[in-house]
Amino acid sequence: MTRPLQLIVAGGGIGGLAAAFVLARDGHAVTVLEQSAAFGEIGAGIQLGPNIFKMFEYLGLTDAVNHVAFFPPGLGMNDVRTGERVVRVPLGDTARAAYGFPYGVIYRADLHQVFLEACKALPNIMLRTGSKVESFGQDASGVRVKLAGGEVVPGDALLGADGLWSRIREAVVGDGKPRVSGHIAYRAVLKREDVPAHLWSDDVLLWGGEKTHLVHYPLRRGELFNLVAVFHSNKYDEGWNTFGDTAELNERFAHAVPQVRELLDKIETWKMWVLCDREPVKNWTDRRVTLLGDAAHPMLQYLAQGAGQAIEDAVVLGEALRLTRGDVAQAFQKYQQARYLRTGRVQLTARFYGDIYHAAGVQRELRNQMFQSGKESAGFAGLKWMYDGIDPKNLFS
Ligand SMILES: Cc1cc2nc3c(=O)[nH]c(=O)nc-3n(C[C@H](O)[C@H](O)[C@H](O)COP(=O)(O)OP(=O)(O)OC[C@H]3O[C@@H](n4cnc5c(N)ncnc54)[C@H](O)[C@@H]3O)c2cc1C
Repeated sequence: MTRPLQLIVAGGGIGGLAAAFVLARDGHAVTVLEQSAAFGEIGAGIQLGPNIFKMFEYLGLTDAVNHVAFFPPGLGMNDVRTGERVVRVPLGDTARAAYGFPYGVIYRADLHQVFLEACKALPNIMLRTGSKVESFGQDASGVRVKLAGGEVVPGDALLGADGLWSRIREAVVGDGKPRVSGHIAYRAVLKREDVPAHLWSDDVLLWGGEKTHLVHYPLRRGELFNLVAVFHSNKYDEGWNTFGDTAELNERFAHAVPQVRELLDKIETWKMWVLCDREPVKNWTDRRVTLLGDAAHPMLQYLAQGAGQAIEDAVVLGEALRLTRGDVAQAFQKYQQARYLRTGRVQLTARFYGDIYHAAGVQRELRNQMFQSGKESAGFAGLKWMYDGIDPKNLFS
């Protein structure tokens, strides 16, 4: 590296903190500007494919993640109307043998905490809360980031990790609001003791049906139980983390097997997400300013990869800056060049998986046939390109 840069990261979610950690490890001075009053994450579960564990290994965070993750023995799909098993894919040693890394699940807040602690341990990261980015300017000498209170933060470059409704994207890409998918997710987390034994499953288990599905899995070493119920609805425009309407959810799952309805009845309060994504784009960079994570390539959750792709972004960005010896404009070009096809493929494939999880009629029969054969281009085997992950040491050869 020629000289340490002053880098500004807008947004302290999983992507922003991962990027701050990667860049500060290389000796750059990083300021994270987070709009919220405190660093934290919404309590819900996320799945972590082997490609993400590969990144934890590269970042030296495997032990910290393993300490709070849960490693399900399998990934299954049942028919929500009949209870019939569609498919079960073994994970555990089978996933390790296939991809070199495990498949795990984690409480979002715990993963965020892993990155927050890692950032706090580096003296060259400044973590600022209550710092909402309003706008930015740039010229040949650097960037100036303007906060809501009027303060201007100068730096060499700006990284927009400010999520789905990114301000930075508005200025860099300018493609309007995210696409509202018409799919809604209700999420809740129960304590282990609140889940009767006959409803508990160590597997990641998806109950699929026409225009609906429920997925559940344990979290935090098996101390918690995560539930995500998804259905189609045009009732809502957009929003994250508001409360769900239990009556509507019950109506949507009225056709479900008793086991599913019993599980849904355990939840008093649901958090609601209106699910959005965007069309993939090829350019999310303007000279000294680039995007990362949901700001760059927001995707539907059907492949469980949004946070994982943000972490991969961070690793690639770090490698690009090393390669260009701190030439940020060149590094940002290399970074997006290495990322846009992979992240675009996840964005588009996630939509397809949303359709097939919620299939009816012939589409449902075809899905079952493809999943059960295990060799087709749909199903777990068809996702090898994604779970194999990236090789940080061979990104630009
Ligand atoms: C229902 C659901 C299930 C999911 N399941 C999975 C899963 O299983 N696996 C997986 O990998 N991913 C999953 N995801 C996706 C994952 O949650 C996101 O992709 C990930 O959180 C993106 O991280 P991020 O840091 O890019 O953005 P965010 O998490 O949105 O973080 C953005 C941060 O920027 C801050 N911010 C915003 N604007 C400003 C501003 N102007 N100034 C300063 N700060 C700002 C926000 O407060 C926030 O802290 C799921 C998503 C949903 C909705």
